[in-house]
Amino acid sequence: MLTPVIPDASEDADTLRESEKRMALAIAGSSTGVWDRNVLTGEIHYSTGWKAILGYAEHEISNLIEDSYQRLHPDDLAYVKATIQAHFDQQTEHYEVEHRIRCKDGSYKWICSRGKVVSRDSEGRPLRMTGTTTDISAMRAISDKLQQTVDLMTSLTDEVPGLVFQYRLMPDATSFLSYASAGIRDIYELEPEQVASHTDAINALIHPDDRATYRSSFEFSAQNLTPWHCEYRVRLPRQGLRWRQGDARPQRLEDGSTLWHGFITDVTERKRIEAELQEFATVDYLTQLPNRRHFMMQIEAELAMLQRSGEHCAAVLMCDLDHFKTINDRWGHAVGDQALKHFATILSDQLGATDLAGRVGGEEFAVVLSGADVAEATAFARLMQQRIEASPLLEGNQRIPLTVSVGVAAMSANDASAHSALSRSDLALYRAKENGRNRIECH
Ligand code: GH3
Ligand code: MG
Ligand code: MG
Repeated sequence: MLTPVIPDASEDADTLRESEKRMALAIAGSSTGVWDRNVLTGEIHYSTGWKAILGYAEHEISNLIEDSYQRLHPDDLAYVKATIQAHFDQQTEHYEVEHRIRCKDGSYKWICSRGKVVSRDSEGRPLRMTGTTTDISAMRAISDKLQQTVDLMTSLTDEVPGLVFQYRLMPDATSFLSYASAGIRDIYELEPEQVASHTDAINALIHPDDRATYRSSFEFSAQNLTPWHCEYRVRLPRQGLRWRQGDARPQRLEDGSTLWHGFITDVTERKRIEAELQEFATVDYLTQLPNRRHFMMQIEAELAMLQRSGEHCAAVLMCDLDHFKTINDRWGHAVGDQALKHFATILSDQLGATDLAGRVGGEEFAVVLSGADVAEATAFARLMQQRIEASPLLEGNQRIPLTVSVGVAAMSANDASAHSALSRSDLALYRAKENGRNRIECH
């Protein structure tokens, strides 16, 4: 006779109890508790571990759902109830909330509660719901601390004048600002979100003449991992044309991208002062012509070009106003100044695009005519004398007697320096003075 093999029920129950025990231990070890709620009766059963999270012993806590709501932090109550209701109404797959809950000693803990309706009636109304509760206070503390650090950094960088940024250039040449302080609103008139995935908005603002320099400065910094420095102009919708200066340090990341940390400031005022100083240093205030020092630099450059090209030539003219001392003596220094300006205007108007002129002494002016020989330079000087004659400077209805003597010399590739050509024209000028003034003499 065959005996059917009947599984040993008591052995099965033992195995189940063992696995439940292991499960309970594992849950207890992870500061997690388990709950089981009867939605119809409003009863809720908590595991020992659940009660332990709140500091309660086994029989110290009721099993009524209404009491459990009393333990919720008042600020979290509405949000928790709404989330449960949404799950009851089957709007969510499961229920998950983070909120504060009051412990036995009155303090609050942050917990994460996850659950799911496990049975419903024929019309879908919830009957039973089970879930877990995890103590996340420690995690919350870390994340609060992290948030405080982030808030501190953001407040600090937002207070710095200018833009503090983190810029990333990917191996595929795309780039974006992974961090931009509030200063981006001043520096680029943009919002941080506009540059968070690409930098097209910034590139469009860079002055066209500075775009190549701006781009290559980053390329150089990325290639050599040297600090980035760039001074460039931007054209902004509200502020118009402004100067920006950027400085940042690069580092290479594992994926081959380059990451810069740095800042960009407004240097418009500094650039304006620099340009003004540059002008002070190079331009004669009275006549607006290059001063002696600047003219000498320009004429040396002209000579260097002449020496390189070989066939190119140039003529040098030295002009000195006649009897200028008498003008000052007779009409006053202010009229003398007017006469200097008057002469400088006539001279400037006559210059070609490649010609140079400078005020090299009190009433002495030097001219370089690029590409001209002595004959052409003489014609230039004659035309200048005719124009002075034709448009006299008047004081009241009296004519200021203004004439100029001119010495002309050729500048050649053989000249060791521009000074030699200038002193030749000076010699010619001396002769023009000797021979009666208001004359042109050639060396
Ligand atoms: P010459 O025909 O020989 O050149 O006579 P001159 O009087 O022009 O020559 P001189 O070099 O003796 O005098 C130049 C005068 O130019 C002397 C100086 O007071 C005057 N002068 C130099 N710089 C200025 C200036 O900026 N403004 C005025 N008003 N006069 C100046
Ligand atoms: Mg003189
Ligand atoms: Mg003179």
